[in-house]
Amino acid sequence: MEIELNEAQREAQARFRAFIRATVTPVAEENDRQESTPPDLIQKLAQEGYLGALIDQKYGGGAMDILTWGLLCAEIGRASASLLSLLTVHSMVIQVLNKWGSEEQRQTWLPKLASGEVIGAFGLTEPNIGSDAKSIETQAATHADGYLINGEKRWISFGQMARLFLIFAQHEGKIAAFLVERERNGFSTEPITGLLGFRSAMLARVHMRECVIPATNLLGRIGFGFSHVGSTALDHGRYCVAWGCLGLTEACLDASLEYTEKRYQFGATLKNHQLIQEMIAEMIVGIRAARLLCYQAAFLKQRGDPSLIMETSIAKYYTSRLAMRAANDAVQIHGANGCSSDYPVQRYLRDAKVMEIIEGSNQMQQIIISKVGYQEHLLAKRAARHQGGKSRG
Ligand SMILES: Cc1cc2nc3c(=O)[nH]c(=O)nc-3n(C[C@H](O)[C@H](O)[C@H](O)COP(=O)(O)OP(=O)(O)OC[C@H]3O[C@@H](n4cnc5c(N)ncnc54)[C@H](O)[C@@H]3O)c2cc1C
Repeated sequence: MEIELNEAQREAQARFRAFIRATVTPVAEENDRQESTPPDLIQKLAQEGYLGALIDQKYGGGAMDILTWGLLCAEIGRASASLLSLLTVHSMVIQVLNKWGSEEQRQTWLPKLASGEVIGAFGLTEPNIGSDAKSIETQAATHADGYLINGEKRWISFGQMARLFLIFAQHEGKIAAFLVERERNGFSTEPITGLLGFRSAMLARVHMRECVIPATNLLGRIGFGFSHVGSTALDHGRYCVAWGCLGLTEACLDASLEYTEKRYQFGATLKNHQLIQEMIAEMIVGIRAARLLCYQAAFLKQRGDPSLIMETSIAKYYTSRLAMRAANDAVQIHGANGCSSDYPVQRYLRDAKVMEIIEGSNQMQQIIISKVGYQEHLLAKRAARHQGGKSRG
């Protein structure tokens, strides 16, 4: 088994790195302070083809393979976790349209999402409902002109600027997913500020009061909302977050290597103190392991292997914990400087904490992973019994 990027993927990675270092890294700290992402930065991403990377060429996209997409998420995550979340939610909307959208929905939305004319957002979480997503309270009712939606969504990344929202609602006790445009009557958003991390991800509360949308805005079927559309979106979101956390951990390592080479204490640079070396070594080993988990998730996705959901959960769980530990150590390594906005590691730490909560908190990942572990154990026992029976017979 070979785990290696091909030439095109290596070239793409180098291109992403050069573009992001020139365009995103220099403004990441200021955007974090301003709690905003300027539209011209998003337009630059669109011009680079990042917003439409996963869209088929016939709809104006780049038809990027999923491993290369992972490399892009890692590079963006290395520069700005907030900007990674733009790519994440925007591409969650794209992936559900790719998989569950009608041809008419794809033709209407994919070219606009690819060009950045329209930014997509993912609306699942509500004031009363987070992890227990099947219990959402937003209601959709059949209406003479389509569907009538009432409810509130909270913590919606890029909800301040998105124009197309993937909204999950209960319809007669079954969950359905709807495409809701910002321009609809009864639809409004309210900015959320003062967050711990992801401060430039322009989060919003979303209000829908007597909001009527046409029947053609239903995505998939009634009852498919969570089991099909939501799970496609969340699996993709976890994949982006896993790669983004790999990038964020690499940023923690970069900053720590740089700092420990320059800072002297007790007559030696920090890099010569063994307890510092321990933290650096943990980051390096973690990055190697995280990269393998991300590659594994990518290869399974490329093959359409059913175990991809479990492997993506494992990758998200591992990499977000790693990013949190690495960011914590990076701040420790920087001492008081690590607590100052003169250095990016304080932002890395704040953003890493969010990574453990979004796209299904790490407790939810533990539940998924352990459940599958028990199923696999049972299947292995059955197979062994079956094998034993065959060899006796
Ligand atoms: C910066 C940011 C961006 C976000 N962007 C979006 C977005 O774009 N769209 C969107 O829909 N949502 C978004 N969210 C919301 C996010 O998905 C939720 O915060 C997440 O799903 C957890 O839900 P909750 O916050 O309501 O926590 P809760 O579900 O209330 O859980 C609170 C704590 O209890 C734990 N817990 C819950 N149930 C169990 C259990 N059965 N066993 C053990 N522990 C449990 C959780 O792991 C968590 O630690 C965002 C959140 C943040 C912070």
